[in-house]
Amino acid sequence: MPSPLIDSFHRSIDYLRLSITDRCNLRCVYCMPKEGMPKFSHEDILSYEEIMRLVRLITGMGVSKVRITGGEPLVRKDVLYLCARISEIQGVNSLSVTTNGLLLTDFAKGLWTAGIRRINVSLDTLSSEKYAAITRKDCFKQVWRGIETALDVGFEPIKLNVVVMKGLNDDEIEELGRLTYLYPFHVRFIEFMPFQEADLPSSFLSSDEILRRLENVAPLEPVRVENGNGPARHYQFPGAIGKIGIISPISHHFCPTCNRLRVTADGKLRTCLFSLEETDLRTLLRREASEAELAATIRRAIDLKPERHTLESDVFRKCIGRPMSAIGG
Ligand code: SAM
Repeated sequence: MPSPLIDSFHRSIDYLRLSITDRCNLRCVYCMPKEGMPKFSHEDILSYEEIMRLVRLITGMGVSKVRITGGEPLVRKDVLYLCARISEIQGVNSLSVTTNGLLLTDFAKGLWTAGIRRINVSLDTLSSEKYAAITRKDCFKQVWRGIETALDVGFEPIKLNVVVMKGLNDDEIEELGRLTYLYPFHVRFIEFMPFQEADLPSSFLSSDEILRRLENVAPLEPVRVENGNGPARHYQFPGAIGKIGIISPISHHFCPTCNRLRVTADGKLRTCLFSLEETDLRTLLRREASEAELAATIRRAIDLKPERHTLESDVFRKCIGRPMSAIGG
């Protein structure tokens, strides 16, 4: 087993969020403008061979958890082939996918067969009308069917990611929380992050307020969850079968325990979501740099991973240089 990968602030870096495409079949208001974003060309994005080489290298350096994301990862051709190959890589102990769920009815079984056991589905509302307003596509029912299919296939827990936006879906916090009485979901409430591309400049609602609203349903008990060393704080309503997660990138940032690296679809390494610093790995991959040169470049980037983000100092004017769809959320 490789020794742990430790950064300059003594954090153990063991998690890679790997974006495999910048394309998405939704246009969520908090992520992209209505007309979408300029797209990478096929040549811009890493090939599956390049991705696998990188994953082998990075897991060899000590990363053990990989999440496949996008854009919408399920729209990339042959995504199941990629999942299956990555799940075979020695050192990948946890392989997961973040999806908007639109294609999940067709893909759930294949993802399971490809070795995926953990999926996160973005779902910000239980209302078809609101879903259409938030994602600019009228397909709530299709997504819900996808989630049910994933449950039938055996994914558990399915994590539902809810971005909370004041005036848009904050009136549903309680109802979304109540889902955990009916389903074994982890419903995770995420503070809205004010990226430049979002069409929602002032929708922020703090996690303290989200918790206060949830307590209208019933008192929340803090709980521990398996694999719960991510940024979420976990709770449960008494008697519920599912759990509640609270993710506060803004009001209670989790930088001191940040264990993440991100690789964008075009092969740029980002060590902090909110930093503009990127390390170009694609150029190295394409000029067939040696494993040692690639590893040294990644190591240097990790050594420069910022101690913390400074987003809250300028909370509604922050630019992260690319939309979330092009970084990988
Ligand atoms: N297409 C996939 C999906 O919808 O889950 C994966 C990519 S999406 C960019 C990943 C996550 O980023 C989603 O859970 C989405 O809600 C979150 N996200 C995007 N923009 C955000 C913002 N401004 N604030 C908070 N979360 C955001």
